[in-house]
Amino acid sequence: MKQSIVKCPGCGLLLPNQYFAEPARFHASGECNELFNQLSYYTAAHGKPEFIHQLALDCYGAQHSGGVTKAITTAFSLIGLYLVEEHGFTGKQVQQVHMALGRSKTVWPELVPPRESAPVTVQDVLNTEAGDNRDAMIRKWVSAVWASWAYAHDWAREAVKPYI
Ligand SMILES: [Zn+2]
Repeated sequence: MKQSIVKCPGCGLLLPNQYFAEPARFHASGECNELFNQLSYYTAAHGKPEFIHQLALDCYGAQHSGGVTKAITTAFSLIGLYLVEEHGFTGKQVQQVHMALGRSKTVWPELVPPRESAPVTVQDVLNTEAGDNRDAMIRKWVSAVWASWAYAHDWAREAVKPYI
């Protein structure tokens, strides 16, 4: 019997269908979300003060926008990517800005995801050897997802200006 394939509606990854339910938090296939869960075990156990988990979370969030993904998730993800990419923030610093933004009464816009998803996916990160190489791949993921959202760059810069 031919193995059926499921395409992730967020990042476009084609994965063997394991009949996982789609996650409630992200516009993603259950199979893709499972890869993100696997990566989360790695990043959460990372132990370094930079908190690289935040970078992975923001990459995944921005790359899986639309559908069930809340406007605030997309907005926070893009702001996180912007701060890392253009201001050299660590995940820890991004987390602090997110907390400040969370206390604001901002109504977040529905940002429409770009037609072309970034060429780097969670699978590329997981396929990279754990350690410095994988961390470098997470940084590439940040750059790729940020670049894919070019139309929203000015929005992100303006949205976070009062907080940095
Ligand atoms: Zn995906």
